[in-house]
Amino acid sequence: MNLKQMFKDVGIFQYGVTDTAEIRFAQEVRAMCEVNTCRQYGKTWACPPALGSVEECRERIQRFQKMLVFSMKIDLEDSFDYEGMMAGMKQFKKSCRAIGAAIRPYIRDCLMLSNEGCDLCEKCTYPDAACRFPEQSQGSLEGYGVFVSELAKQAGINYINGPNIVTYFGALVCQASDLEQLLGQTIE
Ligand code: SF4
Repeated sequence: MNLKQMFKDVGIFQYGVTDTAEIRFAQEVRAMCEVNTCRQYGKTWACPPALGSVEECRERIQRFQKMLVFSMKIDLEDSFDYEGMMAGMKQFKKSCRAIGAAIRPYIRDCLMLSNEGCDLCEKCTYPDAACRFPEQSQGSLEGYGVFVSELAKQAGINYINGPNIVTYFGALVCQASDLEQLLGQTIE
């Protein structure tokens, strides 16, 4: 498994690593979810309140040592190009699922996170029944209470990539030795 090659194949733009111990988990971010600007709050198992409290999210992530943060940038026609943004988001989520599926045979104990909710099923089972595809549903970084702008800086990647470009972020959370194996390099 060559994760660097996989990133190239699915159109990942940048990636970088941070210690999970250094990530700030903020109730303020959760409060932004609750305002529901993205219209994903309470819609799927990948967003709050299904994700549990911010403290529970922090514990789930900090069980692991490292977070590999990655991004995809999508060109838009202009800053009002909503259709372009939605198509870009779909493309990004597909790539995140492809990355998760490729990684799973090598490291089963890890967590994949992505931007915003889960678009896998036409209608989510939340809250009436369990998730249909728990291995493919990826929790939202923002829903976990993470400031994505801060996270990008910690991982050494761009949060903003210029005018008329939207950038989506995902993350693989795992132990350092597993990440070294996937990247084929030593990490600090
Ligand atoms: S995989 Fe389906 S059931 Fe599970 S969170 Fe996503 S949309 Fe909902």
